[in-house]
Amino acid sequence: MNLKDLKTHLTLLYRTRYIFLLIATIAVTACSTPKTAPQKEGPPPEPDVFAFGYKLNDFEVVRDTVQQGDTFADIFLKNGFNYQDIFDINRKVKKQYNFRKIQLKKEYTFLFNKDSLATPVAFIYQPTVLDYVVVHLQDSIYAEKRQKEIKIRTFEAQGIINSSLSETLEEQRLSPLLAYDMSDIYAWSIDFFRLEKGDRFKVVYSQKYIDDSINVGLNRVHAAYFEHRNKPYYAIEFESDPERGITEYFDEKGKNLRRAFLQAPVQFSRISSRFNMRRRISYYGRTKPHYGTDFAAPVGTPIRTTASGTVVESGYTRGNGNYVTIRHNSTYRTQYLHMKKRLVRKGQQLQQGDIIGTVGMTGYTSGPHVCYRFWKNGKQVDPFRQQLPEAKPIEPKLKEQYMVYMLPLKDALDCIQFYEPETTS
Ligand SMILES: [Zn+2]
Repeated sequence: MNLKDLKTHLTLLYRTRYIFLLIATIAVTACSTPKTAPQKEGPPPEPDVFAFGYKLNDFEVVRDTVQQGDTFADIFLKNGFNYQDIFDINRKVKKQYNFRKIQLKKEYTFLFNKDSLATPVAFIYQPTVLDYVVVHLQDSIYAEKRQKEIKIRTFEAQGIINSSLSETLEEQRLSPLLAYDMSDIYAWSIDFFRLEKGDRFKVVYSQKYIDDSINVGLNRVHAAYFEHRNKPYYAIEFESDPERGITEYFDEKGKNLRRAFLQAPVQFSRISSRFNMRRRISYYGRTKPHYGTDFAAPVGTPIRTTASGTVVESGYTRGNGNYVTIRHNSTYRTQYLHMKKRLVRKGQQLQQGDIIGTVGMTGYTSGPHVCYRFWKNGKQVDPFRQQLPEAKPIEPKLKEQYMVYMLPLKDALDCIQFYEPETTS
């Protein structure tokens, strides 16, 4: 399946839900090369140009930008209007748009009829790349605010990591937001602070465009492949709850990438001490096990519950300082120590990621960190050595649909070739 087919596949699938019908019409093919367009003869005809809801070819178009010191009146004076016209126009449109706000270097356009009098038709001012204001100048004079139509285009990208994901994206001039999206998608399976040289990725994503050429940002990641330490991780976006419009990412076996537990109770932290049954404390000259994982982070950093559950303790002891214990179900319990502030009370119900307190250094601690403790069936264990349960497995009925939907996207990912960009040095 080539990229063009894939785009159709994505657009149609999101527009309709007749998944089976569509899939039947899409042949799953091996990686194909796009066909070249047939050669045209003769010079191409003048293309039609549409903007602001007008076919520009039909008008005399004057385009400029607001210059230093320009007022609304100055701009109109420069384009052949007299003071009486301007006074009249301003009086009629000021309720719809305040043209005193016009800003330096912003674009504006006048449209005139192609007749001998060059009758004015419209004035368009663009306060942002997306927004514009049209002042209708023919017949009745009025202004209206509009937004340009956003078009979604699908792309593929790949990269090999040398030092960081964002650097690899930058080298290829890809959106830095792809790094955020991918680290979100893989938050449960890959630690993006510990990527290794040689890790690589492929991604199918879409971007938003206006005027067919102005990129106004990343839309979404539809499918991704990440190879971390030679282990492949597929992620395919799928609407897992059509009723509530929830989309999630699943792997090639239909497993939800989201786990019931977050990897860390604090974002952008580093592990300063791992779970260790035989930790040596040099000061005492003996071993004292560390039953938690310490995440170092600045004082005041929000602490999140790693999974949904109920607060069973919110208190203070000399050793733990301010701490919170959460019961997730009959199997799992977690605890968070040394908080500056506790923000939950006993009995409170929490959703995964809810903020329960802030990082501090209360209790026995030498620096600001959260000691994160994890119990499975009443026994303290290392959460990083557990096969953590899936957040919400896909419903059996939807899973069949997913497997059908996923295949062409996985094919598209598999067809993307890795290559090292040429270096100039
Ligand atoms: Zn600790």
